[in-house]
Amino acid sequence: MELRELGRTGLKLSCIGFGASPLGNVFGTVSEEQANASVRLAFQSGVNFFDTSPYYGGTLSEKVLGKALKALEAPRSSYVVATKCGRYVDGFDFSAERVTRSVEESLERLQLDYVDILQCHDIEFGSLDQIVNETIPALVKLKEAGKTRFIGITGLPLGIFSYVLDRVPPGTLDVVLSYCHYSVNDSSLGDLIPYLKAKGVGIINASPLSMGLLTHAGPPPWHPASPQLKSACEAAAAHCKEKGKNISKLALQYSLLNKEISSVLVGMKSVEQVEENVAAARELANSGIDEEALSEVEAILKPVKNQSWPSGIQQS
Ligand code: NAD
Repeated sequence: MELRELGRTGLKLSCIGFGASPLGNVFGTVSEEQANASVRLAFQSGVNFFDTSPYYGGTLSEKVLGKALKALEAPRSSYVVATKCGRYVDGFDFSAERVTRSVEESLERLQLDYVDILQCHDIEFGSLDQIVNETIPALVKLKEAGKTRFIGITGLPLGIFSYVLDRVPPGTLDVVLSYCHYSVNDSSLGDLIPYLKAKGVGIINASPLSMGLLTHAGPPPWHPASPQLKSACEAAAAHCKEKGKNISKLALQYSLLNKEISSVLVGMKSVEQVEENVAAARELANSGIDEEALSEVEAILKPVKNQSWPSGIQQS
């Protein structure tokens, strides 16, 4: 599995990262055996990056991931663990007091002494000025205390990243995690990449399958996309199926093509999905993407290209 540098952190992340939100049962129930086997196979296949949050499944994802990683009996330095703070099943709290307590709780659930990356989760739901003036300074202290090696921010509207990065001292933030903005149906993150690189932050792209839109099974019931976007993605999936192609493979490969993105986080809940996604990365490296299928899918998705949905209390 290809490794890519994460900004200036010195970390080398596998180009596919293991998104652990499915381990919190957010895309249907996953047994502990399935979770353990999926994490093990991913690790054995060269995936070294695992992302979770206390929000996923109300802390379940962190607990299940922690157990699965421990069961690997691998050196701690052989994998990179990212978790988040500020978003919980009972709401948002980006106060310094809450995020400081949060990381301790996460470490206990993950059975770790430190995480590699701690990120403020979905900051568009909080006050961005609080994030700049209170939350990030608290994360800097947690970094100094050795609870996390690097810090970052996550969210959906792309404007939140420049708002924060323009207001914190250079070099304060190590990582940004963007989601649903570098997939076949929405590649708007691409325009922000030169700016993010100039700021020296590592770039993680999550949800290459647009949280299930670009799958043959379709999105979960809670998916926030408009009916128009859902039906365009359904049409693209149907087109691929008719041609004997797999839309998820194509979508993941599309996201992997951009090497400025250090890792593409895909949510995986079964050994089969790990196998398929690892094989998609290998195939891309060996023989490139199926250009014909990609241009057909892009044509179907053109009317909804870069269409997103509202998220948070401010739209930047
Ligand atoms: P995704 O686009 O990765 O889609 C996940 C869905 O696709 C799940 O239902 C999964 O079971 C399915 N899937 C995976 N591989 C498949 C395959 N080969 N064939 C068919 N279906 C397949 O969306 P996601 O899980 O939301 O995002 C990935 C990860 O990124 C998350 O688990 C999380 O770790 C992270 N993330 C973070 C944020 C944030 O910080 N705000 C937001 C979204 C995602």
